[in-house]
Amino acid sequence: MARDYYGTLGVGRDATSEEIKRAYRKLARELHPDVNPDEAAQTRFREVTAAYEVLSDPQKRKIVDMGGDPLGNGGGGGGGARDPFGGFGLGDIMDAFFGAAGAGGGGRGPRSRVQPGSDALLRVQMSLEECATGISREIAVETAILCDLCRGSGCAEGTSPVTCDTCGGRGEIQSVQRSFLGQVVTARACPTCRGLGEVIPDPCRQCAGEGRVRARRTITAKIPPGVADGVRVRLSGQGEVGPGGGPAGDLYIEVEELPHATFEREGADLHCTLRIPMTTAVLGAVVPLDAIDGRIELELEPGTQPGAELLLTGRGLPRLRSTGRVDGRGDLHVHVEVDIPTRLDARQAELVRELATLRGEEQHSLATANSRTGGLFAKFRSRR
Ligand SMILES: [Zn+2]
Ligand SMILES: [Zn+2]
Repeated sequence: MARDYYGTLGVGRDATSEEIKRAYRKLARELHPDVNPDEAAQTRFREVTAAYEVLSDPQKRKIVDMGGDPLGNGGGGGGGARDPFGGFGLGDIMDAFFGAAGAGGGGRGPRSRVQPGSDALLRVQMSLEECATGISREIAVETAILCDLCRGSGCAEGTSPVTCDTCGGRGEIQSVQRSFLGQVVTARACPTCRGLGEVIPDPCRQCAGEGRVRARRTITAKIPPGVADGVRVRLSGQGEVGPGGGPAGDLYIEVEELPHATFEREGADLHCTLRIPMTTAVLGAVVPLDAIDGRIELELEPGTQPGAELLLTGRGLPRLRSTGRVDGRGDLHVHVEVDIPTRLDARQAELVRELATLRGEEQHSLATANSRTGGLFAKFRSRR
């Protein structure tokens, strides 16, 4: 059975491409793995993305409307090829029935010279500190922009496109073939005008008829606080200008988070390890600690144990919600390690020995299951 792509996105069969885009964005905001790490949500995210990929492509959508499945897996009577127009699959039959222009043609008649531009992706490296505060940074972007000489028309000044002689402006060339379906008319894109139905006799000298040129520009990227590795910020209409000066796609800025020397990240929570001398563990102390948001005076109780974990509520990273708003902060977990000295001079050894005597600890004693900690094996048991 063909998959129900419309149902997956929750739109009707007559939805416009704008409605499809809106429905996808809404679902993607709820289901994106950065927002919703739940396994079921991720599966659903993949389904929703596949449905959008299909329904946002007019050719693939046409196949769906015919009862087929452009992504294969037993698509209704189709060849099951991933690219419906590569090889002999459903695409060929579709072409035969509808007379669509072969390669990339968009239905009957010539296709438009003006096509929407694609999205562009840019990565920015950010330290953990920058992820905590957010940044506003100037970055260089290179994309296709509108050719300012011809304003996207692709024609030299004072000239305009003329009808293609080869196809007479239809953009396609038809031929009659015999096939297992009987006699069918197939159509392919006109090679002279590439399916456009018109040619530019005198192309613009700056863009060679493309209507767009590549250019470098500087933009200010604003990244909100609380972002993590892989999070993307979208700048609407800042992507590639399309062929023929078509509307620009979007520009996505993807965060590449650099590892931090001190902190390990777990969502909005931070973890760090604090090594203290044995004497500090015994006596307790106030030690300074550089948290992500400033210095902390960390209070260690006398008798702090190795492996102790101190929780500093709200001293982690800002918690960025899918709405783009910051909602509170995560916590900072400080894991305590105690350094046992490996070498003592004579005087130090004497003092420790004296302490041992005072505490009645000269004798070694094996921890038993009845002792206060429950012994070594109790610890293993409790882990199960
Ligand atoms: Zn032509
Ligand atoms: Zn131009």
